[in-house]
Amino acid sequence: MTAIQALRGTRDILPDEIIYWQHVEAVARRILNRAAYREIRTPIFEQTDLFERGIGEATDVVSKEMYTFKDRGERSLTLRPEGTAGVVRAFIEHHLHAQGSAQRLWYLGPMFRYERPQAGRQRQFHQIGVEVLGSADPRADAEVIAIATDLLQTLGLKTLRLEFNSIGDRDDRQHYRQALVDYLTPFKEDLDLDSQDRLTRNPLRILDSKDQRTQDILQSAPSMLNFLSPASQQRFEQVQQLLTDLGVSYRINPRLVRGLDYYTHTVFEIQSDDLGAQATVCAGGRYDGLVSELGGPETPAVGWASGIERLILLLQQQPLTGSALDIYLVSRGKQAEAQALRLAQTLRQLDFSVELDLSGSAFGKQFKRADRSGAVLCLILGDAEAETETVQLKWLKTGTQESVAQADLVATAHKLRQRITAEQAAEQPVS
Ligand code: ATP
Ligand code: MG
Repeated sequence: MTAIQALRGTRDILPDEIIYWQHVEAVARRILNRAAYREIRTPIFEQTDLFERGIGEATDVVSKEMYTFKDRGERSLTLRPEGTAGVVRAFIEHHLHAQGSAQRLWYLGPMFRYERPQAGRQRQFHQIGVEVLGSADPRADAEVIAIATDLLQTLGLKTLRLEFNSIGDRDDRQHYRQALVDYLTPFKEDLDLDSQDRLTRNPLRILDSKDQRTQDILQSAPSMLNFLSPASQQRFEQVQQLLTDLGVSYRINPRLVRGLDYYTHTVFEIQSDDLGAQATVCAGGRYDGLVSELGGPETPAVGWASGIERLILLLQQQPLTGSALDIYLVSRGKQAEAQALRLAQTLRQLDFSVELDLSGSAFGKQFKRADRSGAVLCLILGDAEAETETVQLKWLKTGTQESVAQADLVATAHKLRQRITAEQAAEQPVS
């Protein structure tokens, strides 16, 4: 019988890789918590309508990429392709706006899009995202961007670029859209097929085209920046000033637009040169129109989402050192094995991470596994140790060995902790 495999575009995250995921998640939690963002968890599937209205039917996400199906009650459901629509639905449904001040929220979890899988592009992927709902202040735009750069820097990611633009308010965008269509229409036949289609459905998205011919034509296209109203222009300059004050460097990219319909004013992307075609690791902007579009009160909002797979691809380009494991425990002989099982449990209760070798094989084989385990300390229990209720400590980096009474080891656990931490720090662990 043929074995069943994971679906195309989905991946198992195996134990060898999980250290990266736990690291990214732990750093994100720390950075978001200390900025007073609160976590929100919304369902994986929602009414299809939520995404059609919230993202826009003319976008690639809605028109081509959604996993939409009928449930047994004939309702049209969709696996969430992004996080914002669900967060906004929850914000409205639970009257979070009634709590007065701006709501700072974050989320983390799987998203689903029917795309052509390649490195950094999957059908089930994961995002970390933030949303600030209820503030039109340019400081909110600057804050979310600064938090994104803080997160990426704390993760140790280098050579990242922040691209930044304003797409103005709805009216500005409407005017620009018309100017762009007027400019591009005479070249229609020369555009790539997707762009020809977008000319009527979603012309701003043509700026995003990867086609060289289309990009050449766009060289002389009108610039969004010339269509900003004085108020939009002023707002754009304010956010720039705040970013400069915060020491966040950016590049203005007048061609930067976002695929989702609900963006206004600030849009930004953070890109890496080390990811090939899937260069964007974080993308976001302001979406003042979305909450009312989904039936809530007029609520200005700004946020971003970052693709965790792409962050991890970058992290994996740097060497991974360090291990979460403190102690590897080897034992042989009936009495020794029984004592080792108890000692492992006692040490775990004292908050050491301990792996107990269960093989019962020769000491030599167990030592080899101890070396491979990444632990800094190996504890050894044989017949002689069992008899005297002692244990051998072998420090795996230096090979130094000593014998200690089991009871003393437990009684002076804080000393053991200090020494293990010092040995691990010398290895510069990732977390
Ligand atoms: P792209 O142009 O790469 O398709 P997008 O504009 O569709 O990106 P967003 O909807 O803004 O992306 O999502 C925010 C982030 O989520 C992206 O910058 C990327 O890091 C990540 N992301 C989006 N789609 C995928 C995917 N299919 N697989 C992995 N990560 C993804
Ligand atoms: Mg996409």
